[in-house]
Amino acid sequence: MTAHAAALFERPSRTKIVATLGPASNRPEMLRSLIQAGVDIFRINAAHGTCEKFAEMLRNVREAAAAIGIEVGVLMDLGGPKIRLGVLPEEEWTFEKGSIVRFIPGEKANVGADGVPELTCTYEPLVAELAVGDRIVLADGTVELRVTHKSPENQWAACQVLEGGTVRSRQGVNLPGVKLSIPAMLEVDRVNAAWAAKNGVNFLGLSFVRHGFEIEALKEWIRENGGVTQVVAKIEKPEAVDNLLEIVEASDAVMVARGDLGVETDIATVPVLQKEIIRLCHKYRKPVIVATQMLESMTHNNFPTRAEVTDVANAILDGADACMLSGESAVGEWPVETVNMMHRVALGTESVLNSQNYDAPPMSSTFDPVLEATAHSVCELAEHVDAKFIIAVTASGGTALCLSANRCPVPILGLSHSEETVRRMTLYWGVIPMLLPAEITDPWKIMEYVLRKFCEEKYLEAGERVVLFAGTTPEANHNTIVVHEVK
Ligand code: PEP
Repeated sequence: MTAHAAALFERPSRTKIVATLGPASNRPEMLRSLIQAGVDIFRINAAHGTCEKFAEMLRNVREAAAAIGIEVGVLMDLGGPKIRLGVLPEEEWTFEKGSIVRFIPGEKANVGADGVPELTCTYEPLVAELAVGDRIVLADGTVELRVTHKSPENQWAACQVLEGGTVRSRQGVNLPGVKLSIPAMLEVDRVNAAWAAKNGVNFLGLSFVRHGFEIEALKEWIRENGGVTQVVAKIEKPEAVDNLLEIVEASDAVMVARGDLGVETDIATVPVLQKEIIRLCHKYRKPVIVATQMLESMTHNNFPTRAEVTDVANAILDGADACMLSGESAVGEWPVETVNMMHRVALGTESVLNSQNYDAPPMSSTFDPVLEATAHSVCELAEHVDAKFIIAVTASGGTALCLSANRCPVPILGLSHSEETVRRMTLYWGVIPMLLPAEITDPWKIMEYVLRKFCEEKYLEAGERVVLFAGTTPEANHNTIVVHEVK
């Protein structure tokens, strides 16, 4: 893809925007508008659809990005061990507080001979694994049950309704604090992950992660399928919060999946958990996405609430690399307006977010200390000389990620010969990814190429400065910093 300087810098927000694909957005002209409005990564939710549908979405995204000349990434979220209700005999059932319902094995829900509603779910051993006292949460946290009795042969588990409300077929079943033997990846997840690895999906999200070894297992599966897809750990279970350090260390990126996190844990703790997760991700230089209900009311309105705007701003001030749209872009009535709004809020917030008032840890144990130290210096230098942008040459994206963690106010042009690395960098805060022609490898030639391209397009003018950050040889650590003034 030949990137145009103007196109690269037209969307000036530094915070990345992830938009979930769905009927409202999976159309070529809409995808182009969304990219122009500021989407950096499109999310395919693998909980809904088949590999044929995913292939169509991926093709549409790649074609739209190529038409505009802007690189975008693709994240596929695996459903993981998400348990759903079976099919109800009616459109919905309403449970009164204090009433009794039962969970039974099998597929079809029905009403028992004694008039008690009997629910089923997609996890066959659920009734056997439930214990008296366990809490079951339905309908996005609005309906709460507690197991009161179990039949000796596990034919049923009776539950009292603690919080009444309405449930529908296929809604999620959350079991906060209940330890189930369900594997981290179901057969359908393995099939979807293999497809993603073979088809150049850039990020795979693993839902309901509990341990670091589950991330390692997915990475192994990706390798076995010949892929280089990066793994995003979705933090949405109390076990994941307990094992956060090992999960962050094992992952390539992290998502604060506030939807299920707010059901699986006390919703009142979500804001503090968000800050803790982001802080740990920064310490380990892992990009972090804040997700769910960010501009929820824009699913049906063309303007957000003050609280939503403040939520997006606070996520950015907490240090989120990316903010995510779910239903707003998948099924909403105002997808482009929502992306425009997120972009606007990001711009407004980033104007006060710079290396002076952002407490990113200056060094991490993730990267080489020389790279960490030089990246930190590059950011300070670029700010002092008022550079137009930093030219960062990177093979794996690590250098760009290291620069990004410093929240440098100067844009970082992340240049790589690898298409995969370029798409990976779409997630890094403040990094503008760009593909380099294979034949240009020498750092001086790379700088010459960038200067020529950007001057030709009138994006750079005489007297303006750029900072080059590269290694003297492709194998060397990043040990070269050059300040260049355009003549
Ligand atoms: C969430 O729970 O916040 C989330 C992002 O996951 P999903 O959309 O897959 O439920």
